[in-house]
Amino acid sequence: MLELTAIETFYGNIQALKGVSLKVAQGEIVTLIGANGAGKSTTLMSISGVVHPRKGSIAFLGEDITASTTERIVSMGITQVPEGRMIFPRLTVRENLLMGAYLRKDKAGIRDDEDHAYSLFPVLRERRSQMGGTLSGGEQQMLAIGRALMARPKLLLLDEPSLGLAPLVVENIFEIIVQINKDGVTVMLVEQNAQMALQIAHRGYVLETGHVTLEGPGKELLSNPKVRSAYLGLD
Ligand code: ATP
Repeated sequence: MLELTAIETFYGNIQALKGVSLKVAQGEIVTLIGANGAGKSTTLMSISGVVHPRKGSIAFLGEDITASTTERIVSMGITQVPEGRMIFPRLTVRENLLMGAYLRKDKAGIRDDEDHAYSLFPVLRERRSQMGGTLSGGEQQMLAIGRALMARPKLLLLDEPSLGLAPLVVENIFEIIVQINKDGVTVMLVEQNAQMALQIAHRGYVLETGHVTLEGPGKELLSNPKVRSAYLGLD
């Protein structure tokens, strides 16, 4: 479904990605783990077209999107939930959700998807008239995911959904990510919480200073000695 081939992405003279290659097949949850500054967010932003690689290529559903605009990429079916959630604090929960459907015209479909978001996240239905800024961190993360789903993505990019959240809330959010994937959405998940991410991922990649250094099934990486000592704090 998605294939990155040797991409190199720069911020001015700083090279954040030094030849990253990876694949995501339809129906998978693929996670990208790695330390702060390894290039995880840059990889997601290269896919969603926020930044463009200087070298290498990105293909989605057989089309080269390396230089495509974000709008084109969203309309092809890729939606990103950015790190830090970026919800609109002065819009209501409902208005925030509807912002996710801004490229769509099918009113009935949008209504169905709003209902679907409330069924995934019942707390959002209760709070639908409340300002986004009054929600707790976990609720804001749910809102950000709900909003992304309103674009009916084929591929959902999640950047650190567990950031700053209590363990129980993280568990709840990861359960919902699994549910979203079972409903047919392919997921690419960037996480510092390697333990949780590898538990739900079909496959994972380890990123170190702009390079992929390890890849394999989630369960295999969970038991890899290098991953255990460097990213899980075990052994
Ligand atoms: P984090 O979890 O901290 O976001 P990350 O693995 O997602 O880490 P990136 O944010 O992709 O890492 O950063 C990769 C490299 O690019 C780092 O060295 C970072 O300092 C650099 N970088 C990221 N954004 C910018 C920017 N806007 N300008 C200059 N350098 C940047």
